Amino acid sequence: MKYDYLIVGAGLFGSVFAHEAKAAGKRVLVIDRRNHIAGNVYTEKTEGINVHKYGAHIFHTNIKRVWEYVNRFAEFNRFTNAPVANYKGELYSLPFNMYTFNKMWGVVTPEEAQAKIDEQRSEIKGEPKNLEEQAISLVGRDIYEKLIKGYTEKQWGRSCAELPSFIIKRLPVRLTFDNNYFNALYQGIPIGGYTKMVEKMLDGIDVRLGVDYLKNKEELDSMADRVLYTGAIDAYFGYCLGNLEYRSVRFENELIDKPNFQGNAAVNYTDRETPWTRIIEHKWFEFGKDENGRDLPKTIISREYSAEWKLGDEPYYPVNDEKNAALYSEYKRLADKEAKVIFGGRLGEYKYYDMDAVIESALDCADRELNK
Ligand code: UDP
Repeated sequence: MKYDYLIVGAGLFGSVFAHEAKAAGKRVLVIDRRNHIAGNVYTEKTEGINVHKYGAHIFHTNIKRVWEYVNRFAEFNRFTNAPVANYKGELYSLPFNMYTFNKMWGVVTPEEAQAKIDEQRSEIKGEPKNLEEQAISLVGRDIYEKLIKGYTEKQWGRSCAELPSFIIKRLPVRLTFDNNYFNALYQGIPIGGYTKMVEKMLDGIDVRLGVDYLKNKEELDSMADRVLYTGAIDAYFGYCLGNLEYRSVRFENELIDKPNFQGNAAVNYTDRETPWTRIIEHKWFEFGKDENGRDLPKTIISREYSAEWKLGDEPYYPVNDEKNAALYSEYKRLADKEAKVIFGGRLGEYKYYDMDAVIESALDCADRELNK
């Protein structure tokens, strides 16, 4: 047996675990089906711009242990996410705050904004039962109709009345003039890109790319005492109970020969008719500068289209509704019987994880696994 751990997936969960295992003196092999490390946080430099190839990733956390951990592998810049919503050419500040309320209703003071929200939320009686009711009870019907409904239905391909309310609880609502999208103590983008950060985590560790675990399972399993699997849990079991639902995302990237396309890293298109959900202009994650602090003459944008996942697509977001939660718990029962295998991460646990939560979960998993 050459390795103590075979780690399937070189994303954040796998790379953090690999780093911890190596530090604990274990022999570790990391494999990934793709031809690059870093999973969906992978960034690639084009025209001096670190392009987030699998969608925008803005690191934010309230967990000091996680912030200190990532800062061991990268220096973070001071980027603060402040997306703009474009509803049929009307621009609104996100998340929902005094700038948004002023533009929507002309209200000037927090009391006026609160009164407007109270008036509109009163249509929801009792505990909100789904995302639509949750959204209206948080910010009222006007904002729901213009800034939430179309975007959410495009992103999830389901009506807001069918979606769980926790999805919208991710977004802050504030009666202050604060466009910071996240309620997080720490926030930023790793200078030089996420790929470089993950490269450092994997420093000195055997990594094999372009290796499909499920196609060569027996042979690969025989190389290690234990396996950490961070791929999709339903794929691991050959979809034997049926597939879990995921949303997939497709990006149309465009290099534009001008310095500034939209003046912001993220613009959300919150109407129903525009086919994309948002446009990311990658250079603004690093203030439009190259690594020497010079202004970049060109720009790269990505239009993001959301689609239902089908076999062969990359799974992005788990659809954590009741039906899928029930199916996941059946797969989880099977997973618990796999004595040699640990399941972890967004796909292994079928969970809408932010990056910091994935890292915390990988650190906890490593503590349990390596100290036993
Ligand atoms: N959302 C919305 N309008 C927006 C942005 C977000 O209604 O302009 C809702 C939508 O339901 C989405 C959820 O908030 O699924 C979470 O958005 P977030 O930006 O956290 O999603 P992510 O960045 O993970 O794709």
